[in-house]
Amino acid sequence: SSPAEDAGAVTPMMAQYLEVKAAHPDCLLFYRMGDFYELFFDDAVAAAEILNIALTKRGKHQGDDIPMCGVPVHSHEQYLAKLIRSGRKIAICEQMEDPAEAKKRGSKAVVKRDVIRVVTPGTITEDGLLDPRGHNYLACVAEAGGALALAWVEISTGAFAVRPVDARRLGAALAELAPGEILVADRLLERPDLFDLWGEWKPALSPLPAARVSSTAGEARLKAAFRVEALDAFGAFGRPDLAAAGALVDYVEATQKGRLPRLEPPRRVADGASLEIDAATRRNLELTRTLSGERRGSLLAVIDRTVTGAGARLLERWLAAPLTDPSAITDRLDAVAALVDAPAAREALRARLRRVPDVERALSRLVLGRGGPRDLAMLRDALAEIPGLRAGLDEDLRGLVPTLLAGGARDLGDHATLVDRLTRALEAEPPLLARDGGFIRPGYHAGLDELRTLHDESRRLIAALQARLAEETGIGALKVRHNNVIGYYVEVPSRHADRLMAPDSGFIHRQTMANAARFTTVELSDLENKLRGAGDKALALEQSLFGDLVAEVTARADPIALAARALAMLDVLAGLAELAEARRYVRPQVDDSAAFAVTGGRHPVVEAALEAEPDGAFVGNACDLGPETRLWLVTGPNMAGKSTFLRQNALIAILAQMGGFVPAEAAHVGIVDRLFSRVGAADDLARGRSTFMVEMVETAAILNQATERSLVILDEIGRGTATYDGLAIAWATLEHLHEANRCRALFATHYHELTALAESLARLSCHTMRVREWNDGIVFLHEVAPGVADRSYGIHVARLAGLPPAVLTRAETVLKRLESGAEGAPSAARLVEDLPLFAAARPAAPPPAEAPVPADDTPPAGPSALEQALANVDPDDLTPRQALEALYRLKALE
Ligand code: ADP
Repeated sequence: SSPAEDAGAVTPMMAQYLEVKAAHPDCLLFYRMGDFYELFFDDAVAAAEILNIALTKRGKHQGDDIPMCGVPVHSHEQYLAKLIRSGRKIAICEQMEDPAEAKKRGSKAVVKRDVIRVVTPGTITEDGLLDPRGHNYLACVAEAGGALALAWVEISTGAFAVRPVDARRLGAALAELAPGEILVADRLLERPDLFDLWGEWKPALSPLPAARVSSTAGEARLKAAFRVEALDAFGAFGRPDLAAAGALVDYVEATQKGRLPRLEPPRRVADGASLEIDAATRRNLELTRTLSGERRGSLLAVIDRTVTGAGARLLERWLAAPLTDPSAITDRLDAVAALVDAPAAREALRARLRRVPDVERALSRLVLGRGGPRDLAMLRDALAEIPGLRAGLDEDLRGLVPTLLAGGARDLGDHATLVDRLTRALEAEPPLLARDGGFIRPGYHAGLDELRTLHDESRRLIAALQARLAEETGIGALKVRHNNVIGYYVEVPSRHADRLMAPDSGFIHRQTMANAARFTTVELSDLENKLRGAGDKALALEQSLFGDLVAEVTARADPIALAARALAMLDVLAGLAELAEARRYVRPQVDDSAAFAVTGGRHPVVEAALEAEPDGAFVGNACDLGPETRLWLVTGPNMAGKSTFLRQNALIAILAQMGGFVPAEAAHVGIVDRLFSRVGAADDLARGRSTFMVEMVETAAILNQATERSLVILDEIGRGTATYDGLAIAWATLEHLHEANRCRALFATHYHELTALAESLARLSCHTMRVREWNDGIVFLHEVAPGVADRSYGIHVARLAGLPPAVLTRAETVLKRLESGAEGAPSAARLVEDLPLFAAARPAAPPPAEAPVPADDTPPAGPSALEQALANVDPDDLTPRQALEALYRLKALE
């Protein structure tokens, strides 16, 4: 039954609860009751489980106990964080009046309550809920007229953008953004071609009724939010763009209950503005997280030398979305180069940046009315660094300030007036909340100073009063005390009480305790009233001064946000320069050519890991995928360094296009539009796909989508199936890449047979990882050399891995037999005949009639029973006693 129907049967408070809950069915409702937020019914059951807190009962509803749990208001943030992380939304319902007010309306009256905010994963602003070094985007995917658009906003910075996106490329676009929450019209959730994608993003999805995602409503929303008649000034928006961006604004307003955060006008990003990298490639290349989900060990962790949270976030963004415009990349490279060449300037810049707090997030909280004095102090401290920063940039880099640094310096702006005001107004280290006052500096506001003096004076007078009254009454034990119930009072031991009870004593009796009596006097209550009045007034005045400061900051939100962005950018550029110097990275040449030429290239992460080892040194390798040798076929044994080589070249392309220096002696990168990979062999069992199926899906995507500008790395394709199938698929794939896609590609394989293709494919060149045989073993040189691997050394590697010696010996026997099998390997049936597992135990079968006798010099009868048994003996594997027994067995076969 609906809450409304039985509202009459429930308490007024429960009726209010049910009504609010009905308006927020998809949220957990935090219902404020005094010092707690209480949850009821299913909300309570769910929250108690997630938060691991006690589930209790409170009263009855329709005869049943009402489940309940609660979290204290003062520490609710940590609980919110947990609930948000588990993908829940929370509606916060506050008391909108003092309970005393409600009582005046009658003893049964319920305190007015209202939801003041809905907290969702994509709309949080609290430092406690946000990862200081990570972005938190709220995204929306919308469809109109058959086309899709992806819009995103970051509440804590106001960044707002939208781009058209093809359904097939939506996955890559979402992977680039990694939003915390994705709004989708429920209708789109039904689209079969997007079904898998929604599966991947399930925990982040927030379905919306289709009616809330429309281009007409969206356009109206945007115009209203930005107070413009037409949106043309911001970009040429298509219908899906308007639907997506408009729905975002609508959702933000709905969750913030009408308080719109500072949003920049939506920026329209053209398709292809960033290097497209699909989700699997991002994962496999471990760009921002390792395969096990950690930041440590990822490319991001290795290249991150930023010193501020905002800088770290921007670096992640740059890495997630490398550019495709050579001139924009050159701007970044110029700036990094200038900072590499001026180490002193760089160090000075970084030293100042280290003192800069997180302006972006403090600003967003203030604008949303959720900020406190500490947020103001953060702005003050950050903006105060600006003049020094700018002077430093001008001075140290004089004459060679590249565009981006000059732009950054300009965007830092001039905030002297605000800094001055905040410095004068605020205590050095103010409290988090404005509620209790005590954050405005003396000397800032004469009225406040006066009230505080009055307050202090009254306190002093009250203190002095005790001595005077004690003297006047002659009661040495007389004390002036204070408690929260009756305020200030005079207390004397019971035996003196009678004297003060006298009507003309000037004392007014308040309370009699076991051993004491309490009184007040006219003078004391006067002083107390003054004291309390001054205190209340001072607090109110502080709140209003706080409001003024917030208003001033809000009015200057745009220039402050611009400065915040510039600070983050300077941090990223200086960090990249620092990295380049510390790790000997070089400036890549990036242009519109079709080149991809690297000399002495290294894998940034493997190199960093090897550095920690005593004699680990990374061996640099060249790679040239120029127009004449677009396709490199790389052979070599396992563990020789093939995948490291493939990956390092992909990473070098990414680093170059994000505007960073690269781990190489030299690099020339012609812009890559899309990066594809088919590496690693992680089973996607969760989605019910075998390794081979995943491999084929990824390969299909590459062959269908790679363009002449793309860079492809393929590691060991065709391994998950039967040898000939696999070889055939790999063969055809190579041909297609060469003839149809015509992209730059690195192809690592086990199938040495493929090297034969070099004769028919003009742009294919063969390379191999060098190894040296040494004492029955092999040494990996990690060097890429022209040519073809002569052997695969699989058994050597198996030995390194510790396979039992008996298995190794046996494998060698099988291998020899296979290799001697002339043209075309012998059939498995044939092999089993040739190499019976337990020769002694099995009767020798006659050779199959249809099997041709191998055209080699092995005697057709195969080895004797004795020889076979001997081959199965591995002396290393035997105890002396077993050896003796084996010898007896062999002797018996003779
Ligand atoms: P493959 O793909 O051929 O099996 P990997 O690329 O996985 O081999 O490399 C195996 C290991 O060899 C790596 O984990 C790394 O420690 C080391 N390695 C690879 N390339 C190099 C190199 N160029 N210099 C030094 N060590 C390397």
